[in-house]
Amino acid sequence: MTSSFSQLSLAPTLLQAVAEMGYEHMTPIQAQAIPVVLTGQDVMGAAQTGTGKTAAFSLPLLQRLMRHENSSASPARHPVRALVLLPTRELADQVAQQIAQYAKHTKLRSTVVFGGMDMKPQTIELKKGVEVLVATPGRLLDHIEAKNAILHQVEYVVLDEADRMLDIGFLPDLQRILSHLPKERTTLLFSATFSTEIKRLAASYLQNPVTIEVARPNATANTVEQRFYSAHDDDKRRAICTVLQERGIRQAFIFSNSKLGCARLTRALERDGYKAAALHGDKSQDERLKALEAFKQGAVDLLVCTDVAARGLDIKDVPAVFNYDVPFNAEDYVHRIGRTGRAGASGLAVTLVAASDSKLVADIEKLIKSKITVESLALPQSRSSRLRPVGHEAAPAASSGYESRHSARPARAARPARMASRDPFFDQPYQPPSQSQTASWDSHSVATPASVARLSKPKRKLPALFQPISAEAVVSSDS
Ligand code: AMP
Repeated sequence: MTSSFSQLSLAPTLLQAVAEMGYEHMTPIQAQAIPVVLTGQDVMGAAQTGTGKTAAFSLPLLQRLMRHENSSASPARHPVRALVLLPTRELADQVAQQIAQYAKHTKLRSTVVFGGMDMKPQTIELKKGVEVLVATPGRLLDHIEAKNAILHQVEYVVLDEADRMLDIGFLPDLQRILSHLPKERTTLLFSATFSTEIKRLAASYLQNPVTIEVARPNATANTVEQRFYSAHDDDKRRAICTVLQERGIRQAFIFSNSKLGCARLTRALERDGYKAAALHGDKSQDERLKALEAFKQGAVDLLVCTDVAARGLDIKDVPAVFNYDVPFNAEDYVHRIGRTGRAGASGLAVTLVAASDSKLVADIEKLIKSKITVESLALPQSRSSRLRPVGHEAAPAASSGYESRHSARPARAARPARMASRDPFFDQPYQPPSQSQTASWDSHSVATPASVARLSKPKRKLPALFQPISAEAVVSSDS
């Protein structure tokens, strides 16, 4: 199979952009998908973010749009030809940035629209005319209704992270959007898994799709000690400080599910005397790289990040990873804990489980094929010197110099390009989790500890994680 981009029939302008991104070889999903998308066939691809899937669909898509390339200033000469739909603003922004990078030497235009932002600047961009429109479903419908987005000349539609779009409940929005598109088009659907719902979606909107699946990375001998502790939201920070203190751990990654949560936690940890820095989508690439370098140099001890911001960062060997929030997506759990316990080093992954997280933990249990026990963690009654950072003077509110304020989103034009990842994950094939596999909680009748039962109200079956099982859940990391 071809592994070099130069062997593909891509325009020199696209190849130049790829070279400038520093990509040397195609990732497995790229090697499989690019030649197929270049033929114009529908594709159903099983791949998750972090596998290089954005380039896998956008490079051939841009190539096919090259015949429409023109330098006219007239918006009419730049109708939307390709639509890329994603579930979240972060992902939409990330994908749009990548597409803009790949298209930067062409005359093809692209833009992104997502909710939570003023519609006016987006409208101005749309009215100028763009060939590639990246969008979240809700905001796109707003623009369709306002007649800012005219989609009758769309030739390609990409449903990216389709499983997450369905999870969020975007199916009706997707159906409405797709009803505005010409029937004659190429549809590409990417999803981490091919669930029954995804297959149903594909059956309704794809025509004879070519199925592309890349295998999951092979498990290695590296092991991570995984701990799940029940914790109220108010106690989570103390829980982290306690584990750091008790285990004598100085440096760690802490994952939060939201940018705001990430910023707040960083501030609070700084107040506790830790050298902490935030890595989230509102930080520029420059700020992220500085924080990363500071972490590598030991000037920062705790990097508090969101999944999107941490993805593609070249840090893998941290002593511990904390999940301040249980990830919404079980696959993210595997990515998060894969940051620790590498290269033979022992790693610790601690997940703090709130009462409402039982479904998310059950999803992880199903994915990692290992029973999870949620333990309780004894916390000191008050904030005492016991919780002071390891290896540092107990100076009050030591500041890392990395401000964790929830800054305003920088202007898109001011954002530097994302760096190419050097994660060895790309060297390994990805294998989607087996759908037929039954979660351990499906086959057990379970006992619920009083503390958890009081807080959670599971509607149906209770996951095995609430069983008093003593075995520790240990699985291999992803490289
Ligand atoms: P994606 O899965 O598309 O979100 O890509 C994740 C990261 O991998 C992005 O930062 C890309 O710039 C990077 N990437 C994509 N393709 C390659 C490649 N062939 N070689 C190295 N890095 C890549």
